[in-house]
Amino acid sequence: MGKTPVAFTVDVDRDAADFIAGKAEGGTRTAKGVSEKASFSASATGMGEILLLLDELGIPATFFLEGKTASELENNIDKKLLHTMAKRHEIGSHGNEHEDYTGQNTGVVMSRAEIEKSIEEGSKSIRRVFATRPQGFRAPYMHYNEALDTIIRRSFDYDSSFYGKEIVCERGFCRIPVFEDVDAEGKKITGYLWPLMEGKRTPADYLKLASSAAKKRADVLVLSTHSWHHKYSFDKGKPKPKARADGDLKKIGLVLKKIKANPKFEFVTMSVALKSVRQKKGL
Ligand SMILES: [Zn+2]
Repeated sequence: MGKTPVAFTVDVDRDAADFIAGKAEGGTRTAKGVSEKASFSASATGMGEILLLLDELGIPATFFLEGKTASELENNIDKKLLHTMAKRHEIGSHGNEHEDYTGQNTGVVMSRAEIEKSIEEGSKSIRRVFATRPQGFRAPYMHYNEALDTIIRRSFDYDSSFYGKEIVCERGFCRIPVFEDVDAEGKKITGYLWPLMEGKRTPADYLKLASSAAKKRADVLVLSTHSWHHKYSFDKGKPKPKARADGDLKKIGLVLKKIKANPKFEFVTMSVALKSVRQKKGL
C-alpha cells in the first residue's frame, strides 16, 4: 500500500480574520469586536516563523494568500525570503480582502463582476510579490457556491474550500477537501489546527487524526493553520504572550515532525497530491 499524502496548508490572511455585517471585506477580531482596520503584523511575522520551521523540518507546504496580506508582506519580510518561499512551497489565493464571496455572513451579495475583480486583484498582488502565479484557491471562511465556482475553475488548477475525505472532480476541475473526521469521543475534528491554537485540542488529537486518515485511505490528509494563529488568539481577540506563541508554534512543529517521522506518510504540496490521486484513480 502506498503512503498517505499529507498537505500542510497555511492561510495567510489578516490577523484573526473575521466578517463584518454589511461589508464584503473582512476585519480583525479584537477584544472589542471586529475592527474594520485590519492588522497584519502577527500574520506577517508568524508566516516568517512558519517558513523557518518548515525549512528545519524539510517539509513542503501550500500557502493560500490574501492579495492584501501579500502586499503587506512586501513591507515586513525580506524579498529574497518571499522568492525562496515561492520556489520551495506552493502558492495559492485566498481572495483579495478576505471577502465573504457568498454573502453568507455579511449579507452583502457581490456581483459576478465584483467577485471577478477581487479575485483578479488578489492574484495580481500575489504575482507581483512572489513572481509566480497562484495555483490553487481557498475561499475565505470556506464559503463557496456555484457562482464562485464558475469563476474559480477558470482561474485556478484546484479549489480547497470544503471539508471531507475525497477529492471531487467535476467537468475537469478538482476540489481538495480539508480532512474531516470524528474522534474517539464522537466529536468532529478537521485538519484545521484552530482548536490546537486556542488550547482546545492537543497535538495527540491531530496525530490520531493522521492515523485515522491513513487507515481510511484518505486521498490526501490536508492540515491547515493560519499564519497568525500561533501568535494571536481569535477567541481572546488579542496577541498571545510570547511564551504562549512560541509554545503554540512548537505544537505545530510537533504534529508535523511526528507525522513526517512515520513512514506511512509523505508530505507534498496540494498540486502534487492532486496529480498523484488523479493518476491513481483516473479522475
Ligand atoms: Zn481566511
